[in-house]
Amino acid sequence: MNKYCRRRSTCRLCGGGRLTAVLSLEPTPPANAFVTLSEAATEQERFPLDVFFCEDCAHVQLLDVVDPRVLFENYVYVSGTSPVFVKHFEDYAEQVLKRFQAAGGGLVVDIGSNDGTLLGVFQRAGWRVLGVDPARQIARAATQSGIETIDEFFTPDLGRAIRDDRGPADIVTANNVFAHIDDLAGVAEGIRELLADDGIFVFEVSYLADVFEKTLFDTIYHEHLAYHSVKPLRGFFARHGMEMIEALRVDSHGGSLRGFVQRKGGHRRIGASVTEMAAREERLGLDRAETFHAFAARVEALKIEFSGLLRRLKTEGRSIAGYGAPAKATTLMYHFGIDRELIDFIVDDSPLKQGLLTPGLHIPVLATGAISERGPDVLVILAWNFAASIIARHAAFRDAGGRFLTPLPEVEMV
Ligand SMILES: [Zn+2]
Repeated sequence: MNKYCRRRSTCRLCGGGRLTAVLSLEPTPPANAFVTLSEAATEQERFPLDVFFCEDCAHVQLLDVVDPRVLFENYVYVSGTSPVFVKHFEDYAEQVLKRFQAAGGGLVVDIGSNDGTLLGVFQRAGWRVLGVDPARQIARAATQSGIETIDEFFTPDLGRAIRDDRGPADIVTANNVFAHIDDLAGVAEGIRELLADDGIFVFEVSYLADVFEKTLFDTIYHEHLAYHSVKPLRGFFARHGMEMIEALRVDSHGGSLRGFVQRKGGHRRIGASVTEMAAREERLGLDRAETFHAFAARVEALKIEFSGLLRRLKTEGRSIAGYGAPAKATTLMYHFGIDRELIDFIVDDSPLKQGLLTPGLHIPVLATGAISERGPDVLVILAWNFAASIIARHAAFRDAGGRFLTPLPEVEMV
């Protein structure tokens, strides 16, 4: 295809070749590829965004893999900066330790450890900790702050090397990692190598059932290669000498799956949650391609409704701006056709994005002060999962006659 993107021909989880295309979204540049004003003249390359369903194991996935160096080059997301995430990881660590009555003193390895927020919680509870994260600057900063972090991609070789150096790990964690990695088989092999015989692997990943039930199609972008559910994962771990022993739904990132895994033959019993979640997925039809064709039809209907409304507002002479420039807004804007013709600018609370242009469409991102300075008639809430708090914080905009428009989960004027 081209040097930054290749299409795999087999399922990422089972290796099968019977893959059915179920949803075709507009090609986009990488969802986080914001550019500076001086780069505005350069057109950004777009990559296919097609979703496939595996007829053998029911895994839902992208097959077009954009080079991770292109996707994560300038990765700025640092988890510890948000108090919500710190609290999330404290609860997470507490649940792991309680549920598995882990005593402390052993080794915890976090894959995709970011700034080490989660490991910090384990460290304070008396564990030895080690982070693995290929984002070099973040890894270095974590090491300097006392959470030793290896700046490499996690592979079977690295799993073995860590075990040789420091002994087997009692706990391995990976949060929001299983959706990002193409070679999941390699990661699973590495985890099995690294885990102690009675060790436990805990992961958290966006849950396909939430994507499906809430029509979260904008979480589909190139960084998210896989849309996980319990049934395909259970088979995947079994093929790699492990077994899933618990599965829970948690609230993070619009709805996630938290899974607990042990080496095959480990001493823990397999909890009812795994079977219950898999049965519920079957009732939802997540194991059938037709279900996702219906999902695609829903996305199409929303697109027609939303872009029709936006064009009508524009014809009536209203000025329109956006609120929030999260990664997922790239998918939403491209697929719903929200471009510079329709939207003048976007405001975002993060200083890191202010002053930049959105990926590909090059819509300026400004500080929230631009709302009162420029006085748009309508604000499209692109970060729609935060709609309630955004609307509450900007009562002055509404009092002055402004209106909010949400694109998802339903098209709604406020
Ligand atoms: Zn498969």
